Amino acid sequence: MAEVSSTIDALLHENREFPPPPDFAREAVANDPGIYDRAAKDPEAFWAGMAKELHWFKPWDKVLQWDPPFAQWFVGGKLNVSYNCLDRHLDGPRRNKAALIWEGEPGDWKVYTYWDLHREVCRFANALKSLGVEKGDRITIYLPMIPELPIAMLACARIGAPHSVIFGGFSAESIRGRINDCESKLIITADGGYRRGNVVPLKRNVDEALEETPTIEKVVVVRRTGTADDLMQSGRDIWWHDAVEGQSAKCDAEPMDSEDMLYLLYTSGTTGKPKGIVHTTGGYLVGVYTTSKYVFDLKEDDVYWCTADIGWVTGHSYIVYGPLANGATSVMYEGTPDHPDRDRFWAVVEKYGCTILYTAPTAIRTFMKWGEEYPERRDLSTLRLLGTVGEPINPEAWIWYWQNIGQGRCPVVDTWWQTETGMILVTPLPGLTTLKPGSATKPFPGITADVVDENGIPVAPGQGGLLVLTKPWPAMLRTIYGDPDRYIEQYWSRFPNLYFTGDGCKKDQDGYLWLLGRVDDVINVAAHRISTMEVESALVDHHAVVEAASIGRSDDIKGQAVVAFVTLKDTVTPSDELKVELKKHVTQKIGAIARPDDIFFTAELPKTRSGKIMRRLLRDIAEGRAIGDTTTLADSSVIQTLKEKYGEETEG
Ligand code: ATP
Ligand code: MG
Repeated sequence: MAEVSSTIDALLHENREFPPPPDFAREAVANDPGIYDRAAKDPEAFWAGMAKELHWFKPWDKVLQWDPPFAQWFVGGKLNVSYNCLDRHLDGPRRNKAALIWEGEPGDWKVYTYWDLHREVCRFANALKSLGVEKGDRITIYLPMIPELPIAMLACARIGAPHSVIFGGFSAESIRGRINDCESKLIITADGGYRRGNVVPLKRNVDEALEETPTIEKVVVVRRTGTADDLMQSGRDIWWHDAVEGQSAKCDAEPMDSEDMLYLLYTSGTTGKPKGIVHTTGGYLVGVYTTSKYVFDLKEDDVYWCTADIGWVTGHSYIVYGPLANGATSVMYEGTPDHPDRDRFWAVVEKYGCTILYTAPTAIRTFMKWGEEYPERRDLSTLRLLGTVGEPINPEAWIWYWQNIGQGRCPVVDTWWQTETGMILVTPLPGLTTLKPGSATKPFPGITADVVDENGIPVAPGQGGLLVLTKPWPAMLRTIYGDPDRYIEQYWSRFPNLYFTGDGCKKDQDGYLWLLGRVDDVINVAAHRISTMEVESALVDHHAVVEAASIGRSDDIKGQAVVAFVTLKDTVTPSDELKVELKKHVTQKIGAIARPDDIFFTAELPKTRSGKIMRRLLRDIAEGRAIGDTTTLADSSVIQTLKEKYGEETEG
């Protein structure tokens, strides 16, 4: 038997390379490769230089105070995030520029200029004050993807009341837990939201949640669907339109300390119970401002669309705070990509002339499954840059995106980061970096990441290990809300003074980083540690496959055996011959060690509400044990169906 390897065997080889298109490079915001050296030499000076592009009521005394594992950035500085996202743009030509272009699922749409958005934010900020909200009060927001959501966030930021946004797909129980965790005083919701042609009954969920939330005093309700007129409780509930009625369009932005809490937000819950992540004001804004500018190459005339839900960190940082701090035009869409038809995203790109699109691998794999005919129906010629986030992107999905959406013209930035990191940390700079499909490439300037073995020693090029961050960065989480011990335990106890990301990673000969999935998901076959990501990418590489999840199932001889759950293209018929062929394909792509013992075909994989594959539930199925926590699962019927099907097939 091979010796126990302490890292992850990195097996998959992907050699395609895509240098920046010359025209793109010439015009790029980041077009000087010296930015990496400059930032590496003096990261504090680099971040301070970026911070100076923002508006401060009072400058900071010290850039960084680092008492591991607790960091403070721009110590002593005073600023306001809403002021930086709005007021800062009102003096010049941006005043009448579209800040937000919003489209509802039924097809209604609305454009807010910076002036409009400023007015609406001020009015709602004044409404909050008149409802008794004070600086420091926590406010829960449970809204669909409608303009009132960013307006509410910016209003909270304006008066210094930290927000806690809860994704509109969560249940009453999840809302209750999150309200009680932060003891918020007020919740902002809507009667309903549109999703795939149906109305999601948000107000009803809130009413149920509020049966056991002693701290909530008021509920502000946006009238969106007209489905809760009979649910308003007098004394407690107030309509948004009534709350802003007669409110002044001027509201001074509260000077906040750089380290005051801007918001708290719960993680996706892919690996277990969600954690309440705390982000503060100065460092966070500098981090998302800088990365939005350089990673998305933001120019004055761009129409930038991030398809995430604002209920996730991606929406916080890269629909709201990052783009608006840059004075960009940010597009926001309420519904699903298949309503009324499967070309809806491409219809949005065509209608508003989107130039930049930022989406998730799970969405891209869905589009692959549906086929090329949908993007082909629409004019995508305005696009010039594409991005992805949320999971490792399989090289085949990357290539599909590049070819069918980017039409071979647009660089693809694969951005690695977490709720905890607040900002993108590993990413190409589109005008400078030669892309390799499946690699998030290199740390952003000023960020130091490394791949280490179980002892915290950096691995050699070509090896896999654990991704860690070796220095504090401006937008890093400050703690887990109300639980500093869990903060230390979760992120800082594995290795002294290294931030543990929980993700496996390979470093190649050129120093590129290849994310290999969660360390918890690694499969151990005959003492080889195999990444789920690599097995899945080998499967997705086969023309019949659009999506795959691989896991390790206990095996008397090998320790673990690879089991794969595979979703085929709509046009392919499942068969036993195909299973044999797929096993052979994995052997060819990465070697016999990774060959799945079993393959199961399934139309759907269990995913979190943010679209990530939940492998731990698949492991529960394969091991025949009780299914673990499913509260963050998008569709619980998927796991039930799979469990039954798996049971039938393994008995036979
Ligand atoms: P929880 O921490 O509750 O289990 P989560 O980790 O899924 O949930 P998020 O903070 O939304 O919650 O996701 C961050 C994780 O997503 C990263 O740790 C990584 O595993 C994955 N990820 C995000 N972007 C990428 C990317 N570009 N490449 C590879 N993995 C990515
Ligand atoms: Mg996580």
